[in-house]
Amino acid sequence: MKENLNHLLKYFSTLFIIICCNVLFSQSSSDVFTVVLDAGHGGKDPGNRGNGYYEKNIALSIALQVGSELEKKNDIRVIYTRKTDVFVNLFKRAEIANKAKADLFISIHCDAHNSNAYGAGTFVLGLHANQRNFEIAKKENSVIFKEENYEQKYGGFNPNNPESVISLVLMQEEYLDQSIKAANLIQEFFTKNLKRKNRTVKQAGFIVLKYTYMPSVLVETGFLTNKNEGKYLNSKKGQTEMSTTIADAIVKYKNTISDSFSDVSSDIVPENNPNNTYLKIQITSGSKSLELKSYNFKGLNQLSFSRSGNIYKYFFENTNSFNQAKKFLDKAKLSGFKDAIIVAFNNGQRITMDEFFKLSTN
Ligand SMILES: [Zn+2]
Repeated sequence: MKENLNHLLKYFSTLFIIICCNVLFSQSSSDVFTVVLDAGHGGKDPGNRGNGYYEKNIALSIALQVGSELEKKNDIRVIYTRKTDVFVNLFKRAEIANKAKADLFISIHCDAHNSNAYGAGTFVLGLHANQRNFEIAKKENSVIFKEENYEQKYGGFNPNNPESVISLVLMQEEYLDQSIKAANLIQEFFTKNLKRKNRTVKQAGFIVLKYTYMPSVLVETGFLTNKNEGKYLNSKKGQTEMSTTIADAIVKYKNTISDSFSDVSSDIVPENNPNNTYLKIQITSGSKSLELKSYNFKGLNQLSFSRSGNIYKYFFENTNSFNQAKKFLDKAKLSGFKDAIIVAFNNGQRITMDEFFKLSTN
């Protein structure tokens, strides 16, 4: 009897833990979009001093204003890498974003050049296509010389060596599509809403973008070295306009991402299936939210996903015929999803294959 009671106690405490976990999970799976705003430079690192302005101050002011715009939205969580004039190393900035499991990382800067160059540009991590882009990245990366043990910290990375940059880009590659999408929106909003000169989206080897595990963009809001642009970026009007525009682009990006999910994620039930019982091919799963585009899934179409806590499962196709499902499975495996499996659903709920066969012979 006592043993039975012990069993019962164990059973209920396990049940209790499971229920608690479920509650926690469903809270963390709420649709809050986390954005990390990274004001470039700070403290002992002033950034560029074009026309006597301080890049670190302008970047901070814009980042804080972008944040206060976004904080007005209930479904956006804003995290800053710095909110005051302090030095934060590049590694730490990425770490803050990773710890927050952010959905987007935006680093804000101002450019400088010895010409009269002007205009706003956005960057994603990649190999610089030309010397000019390499120079911009080199300048933004050179801050690591102000850090102790930078060689160890950044794996022997040398900002002055173009070859060294190649090793940077590999890790961010899986977020490249989404980074480009965010960068394009920011650039489009700068050009259309603010009539800023379009310096387009470019790729270059920025260290701060390397260590983040999420779509990441670096914004060069304009040139402090250009007389008019420097004045504009240092003014209240300029900073407000830039901030509002960046915030609007981030909201648009967030909406684009969630729209493409809700469009396709609802389980489409084949019409000729009275039991609402059907099969899909589970192709992959993970903590990363991917847009349901064929280029994210080795060319496959007919995609859907489910989310539980921080885990996303991605599916291919939908059928109530087991033979058809086997053909889809072969196609998925041929496309490179070697671990793909057939999974069964009833009314949107996952069921076992046994249950599927029972229901479908009824
Ligand atoms: Zn900078």
